[in-house]
Amino acid sequence: MISIKSEYEISLMKKAGNIVYKTHKYLQPYIKPGITTKELDKLAYDYIISQDAIPSFLNYEGFPASICTSINEEVVHGIPSNRKLKNGDIIGIDIGANYKGYHGDSAWSYKVGNVTKEKEYLLEHTEKSLYEGLKEVRPGNHIGDISNAIETYAKNHHLGVVKELVGHGVGNHLHEEPDVPNYGKKGSGPILKEGMTIAIEPMLNLGTSKIYILDDDWTIITRDGLPSAHFEHTVVVTKDGYKILTGDDNFE
Ligand code: MG
Ligand code: MG
Repeated sequence: MISIKSEYEISLMKKAGNIVYKTHKYLQPYIKPGITTKELDKLAYDYIISQDAIPSFLNYEGFPASICTSINEEVVHGIPSNRKLKNGDIIGIDIGANYKGYHGDSAWSYKVGNVTKEKEYLLEHTEKSLYEGLKEVRPGNHIGDISNAIETYAKNHHLGVVKELVGHGVGNHLHEEPDVPNYGKKGSGPILKEGMTIAIEPMLNLGTSKIYILDDDWTIITRDGLPSAHFEHTVVVTKDGYKILTGDDNFE
């Protein structure tokens, strides 16, 4: 069942989304060579708690940290550790916040110092693919319209689309129906309705779309070791389109 959120629920999700957005902004100046991902995790934890929210990922299915930090060939679900960021790395940071029982979920990929042109290209076009997907969000469209827009954009830019991991409904559970794949056919899948809340999150690779999971049972990496990027927003379907709940236009 895909839930339709009430105005009250959407108001809580706006607040949760805003906390996620502000946590990204808070972390940004710290994303520099020399900082460990564990230090970033601690900063995020403290900030989210200071906003009267709870980190959604902490202990989620046993995940041991508040944020996911995925460096270079790591696609998603990287566990914060004592690894130090280096000049030339890219890092995907995925943040979730639970405010009064409702979640916001947003990932962004960042440059650490100066990165190669290839990594710049990957970041630019993965972010753009998210917005291509967003353009399809309106009542009456299908989930497949979002999926197809992302896949088409990625293919046109010769980027590998990760298929094993997908976007999702979000609300009083972090992951709800429906799945929002980053590939698929136009006109397929559930129909979007006003009041649905979904997280759209392309994960694109510079090389192969193939991935595997490390022995820590969390970290997903590309099979060819080439870099991967991840951009995600939580949105609500509105009467004539959508509103991003984890972006800078969502002020109280
Ligand atoms: Mg996320
Ligand atoms: Mg998500």
